Amino acid sequence: MASEKEAALAAASAPADSPTIFDKIINKEIPANIVFEDEQVLAFRDINPQAPTHIIIIPKVKDGLTGLSQAEERHYEILGRLLHTAKLVAKQEGLDDGFRIVINDGPKGCQSVYHIHVHLLGGRQMNWPAG
Ligand code: IMP
Repeated sequence: MASEKEAALAAASAPADSPTIFDKIINKEIPANIVFEDEQVLAFRDINPQAPTHIIIIPKVKDGLTGLSQAEERHYEILGRLLHTAKLVAKQEGLDDGFRIVINDGPKGCQSVYHIHVHLLGGRQMNWPAG
């Protein structure tokens, strides 16, 4: 399996707004362990979890949001919705003692999938600073 850094570098060389594996999950072309879904967002378990609970939360419509660095005013609503969904899913998962939200952006942020997403991590003690 490619390292996270290799995956991030490979993804960064792909066309910025091309379809990603997350489109296939949204379209139910590949299976995913979905924990929350509504009209706008989808949340599913990460295939390579970095904590006992590791969930990816995405907008169903990317609207140019390959990553947070592409955010514009028109994205305010969906960005808020992603974070609010993270809170709802954290509650659903019983993460009552705390959790961590991560948004990786760009090659140096270790982003590997260019469809904006929020990582929800919990179920273990987090450390600081993050790696
Ligand atoms: P990034 O590195 O912040 O871009 O995060 C992408 C995440 O998507 C990584 O944590 C991957 O493990 C996860 N991922 C990639 N493909 C799949 C999949 O098919 N199902 C669930 N998670 C995936």
